[in-house]
Amino acid sequence: MTRIAIVEGDGIGHEVIPVARSALELLHPEYDLFTVDVGYGMWERTGCPCADKEIREMKDADAILFGAITTPPMKDYQSVVLRIRKALDLYANLRPVKDGGFDIMIVRENTEGLYSGIEESSPDRATTLRVVTRTGAERIVRMAIKLARQRRKLLTIGHKANVLKSDVLFRDICIAEAKASGVSYNDKFIDALSLDVLQHPASYDVVVTTNIFGDILSDVASYLVGGLGLVPSANIGERYALFEPVHGSAPDIAGKNLANPIAALRSAGMLLTHVGDAEGEDQIESAIRAVLAQGIKTRDLGGSAGTREFGEAVLRVLEQTARRA
Ligand code: ATP
Repeated sequence: MTRIAIVEGDGIGHEVIPVARSALELLHPEYDLFTVDVGYGMWERTGCPCADKEIREMKDADAILFGAITTPPMKDYQSVVLRIRKALDLYANLRPVKDGGFDIMIVRENTEGLYSGIEESSPDRATTLRVVTRTGAERIVRMAIKLARQRRKLLTIGHKANVLKSDVLFRDICIAEAKASGVSYNDKFIDALSLDVLQHPASYDVVVTTNIFGDILSDVASYLVGGLGLVPSANIGERYALFEPVHGSAPDIAGKNLANPIAALRSAGMLLTHVGDAEGEDQIESAIRAVLAQGIKTRDLGGSAGTREFGEAVLRVLEQTARRA
């Protein structure tokens, strides 16, 4: 039986993930969905935002649907999200940004770079080590090449090799792998690339880059599709897979029924493809588009529907499709 761990996390995770969960339940009543509690709320109750038990529970699932986590004010804080990515070795973060005229897949290295977690801090000086390894660069570019082969076969390498030695290594490894693979490739400085993606989105297919650059680039690129409420992501490793919206817990709008659940629904869609139901992802996407076409939109898209109302509208369309099938 397919087992899915559901992690709402914090903030708007409690609002958008239930919508996505309902979509999964509707399309696959036979799946075993179980809740795993991690994050700020958990920290308040137990003093620990994510213990070994929760990591084990996530590892027990075929896939994880994840909301977002608010940073708890812990002494010697270590990011929970980074801990989960490392524990599950989710080395590739795939962030699709697409609309009618363009379809970009941002492939972000997810375990090293500036998010290596190797840090020191004193009152007058703080340092963070930016780590690029051959193993890390090779596996992320190979993942990007694999995706490019299934798509339009163009790879763009984003880096800052004119300044950073770590990116000279990253760029050179990416170029060597791309050359050997036969896909078309080009490379661009990440700052120029960020602007060009906004100006000429149709000229991009797969973009591969290091951790923080990919994080920023995907937020920037979300402007092309209407903002953070719309972009899903997959975190993939050799054994585990976790699906989450690109946005965070958005404390400013949490608990107000204002959050757009599209990114969470699309993340559930990517999860379905991962567990073997690509048609389910198409059904979720069609339902989202049908509801938007009816003029039902959340406030970030200029509408007045709440998270729940938008979610219910999507679920109604999904129900109709499921009945017709
Ligand atoms: P975190 O610290 O968890 O990353 P954050 O508020 O710093 O939270 P995001 O959650 O990524 O960062 O969101 C940035 C802003 O974008 C939010 O403050 C919110 O106004 C808006 N936003 C994010 N997600 C959504 C959404 N699903 N629907 C509507 N607006 C959103």
